[in-house]
Amino acid sequence: MSTAVELLAAIEGVGRDAKRGGYSRHGFDRVELELREWFVGEAGRRGLAVEGDRNGNLWAWWGEPGVGAVVTGSHLDSVPGGGAFDGPLGVVSALSAVDMLRERGFAPAKPLALVVFAEEEGGRFGVPCLGSRLLSGAVDPEVARGLRDPDGVTLAEAVAGAGFDPARLGRDDDALAAIGTFVELHVEQGRGLIDLGAPVAVASSILAHGRWRFRFTGEGNHAGATLLGDRHDPMVPAAEMVLATRIAASEVDDARATVGRLVPNPGGTNVIPSSVDVWLDARGPDDASTRRVLGRIQELANDAVEREGCALTVTEESYGDTVHFDAGLRDRIAAALGGIPTLPTGAGHDAGVLAAQVPTAMLFVRNPTGVSHAPEEYAEPEDCESGVTALAAVLGQLAG
Ligand SMILES: [Zn+2]
Repeated sequence: MSTAVELLAAIEGVGRDAKRGGYSRHGFDRVELELREWFVGEAGRRGLAVEGDRNGNLWAWWGEPGVGAVVTGSHLDSVPGGGAFDGPLGVVSALSAVDMLRERGFAPAKPLALVVFAEEEGGRFGVPCLGSRLLSGAVDPEVARGLRDPDGVTLAEAVAGAGFDPARLGRDDDALAAIGTFVELHVEQGRGLIDLGAPVAVASSILAHGRWRFRFTGEGNHAGATLLGDRHDPMVPAAEMVLATRIAASEVDDARATVGRLVPNPGGTNVIPSSVDVWLDARGPDDASTRRVLGRIQELANDAVEREGCALTVTEESYGDTVHFDAGLRDRIAAALGGIPTLPTGAGHDAGVLAAQVPTAMLFVRNPTGVSHAPEEYAEPEDCESGVTALAAVLGQLAG
């Protein structure tokens, strides 16, 4: 049997980011394809037959594929400069849980599958949970095909390069019918379990979450020769918009708003930019509060744009309403695991996308610092093992 920690160790050298620290593993890039190959090998060693679906997600079947399966898994891609656990912990725990169940002589009565979803972080093409959104019909395949990475490569080109047919992207009713129940194990991205003093929790809900691109346009010009009064500098309203995110989020209970990416064009030290793209990540307890945060930021940004004589367009790149995981499944899992705590989360997941279509649950494994989407993300080996034991118990109960 391989433990989760041993399996993680096997991929610890893949996709290290020398510049940012941590890992940069993005959907269908060389590094993520190497991780997929590793997964196919690990599944093969366990006699699990692996197939790709229409949207570039990988499925490894224990026994015959079929409808109503018990499905578990996560993703192998990361944010730029991300940690080792976000995504891979769910994949290695699934493999390790299969080993654990086999050692006990368990044979599933229902079909059981391990899944690896593509481009969960949206780190390359900008739309999070792209594989599960495409599968469940939550994103228009025509729009998805045209998404471009920072080098200008389209998603259609990237999936073709990975051996998938871009014409087949889109809602996959066969794959959806195959999922009877989906359970995703994930490292916790917060401090909930530290405060509770418990290694594992079951998820209750996910905040509503959207990403928007604010494009500020002005007049590109010379940094020395252009008098202040003559400027239409889009960086000025862009900067005010960054400050507005903190103001707007602090006005709404339990909301969050973040600017983690800002790109001036053309981007020269002695050049007033002609445009600035700023990406907003905003989240709230429900649709109305999240929209309120967005609206307030737009209002403050528009005021700033007017003062500087610039223009602003706002494009929604993705949006998902609040997710409430299946309460019956959640309670059944919590009880089966000896009354483990339930926790809400602010982080998005493929499980959150699938929850709109099929009964879905999540297990969180304690993160001793609460830090995630950064190289410091961590889970203790004992907690990883508690996660595998919990996942094996859940799979055994659901598929037994
Ligand atoms: Zn994740």
